[in-house]
Amino acid sequence: MSRTERAIALRRIRRLFQLALEVAKQDLALADRYVEIARRIAMRARIRMPREYKRLICKGCKRLLLPGLTCRVRLQPRREPHVAITCLRCGHVFRMPIKGRKDRERLMAEKEARATRRARGRWLSRRGPKAP
Ligand SMILES: [Zn+2]
Repeated sequence: MSRTERAIALRRIRRLFQLALEVAKQDLALADRYVEIARRIAMRARIRMPREYKRLICKGCKRLLLPGLTCRVRLQPRREPHVAITCLRCGHVFRMPIKGRKDRERLMAEKEARATRRARGRWLSRRGPKAP
């Protein structure tokens, strides 16, 4: 497999993931098919799946992982802090450790901000739609 062939393979993988993300909401089966083809191209060309796409493939069932659609993303601050990504189709859980204090603080701050927004939303809805 020459350099140009690998470059072509990579281009096709990018395109397939782009398409998969575009159609996922309307046709998940088709999106999964695109992912499968992209994986095959990567294996055939013997290139590593780029990291941004690797994250989108379930390690269990090899189908598309899309937060809010086919997977659940949760922050686990206790013990070894990590991000737990659960595939909602096969149940496979992938854990990503949160390394370093900076990462951890940033993620916890985000979590805090979300909880605050939720609490505020509840508070506003209790007071009716006219509340500020
Ligand atoms: Zn899965």
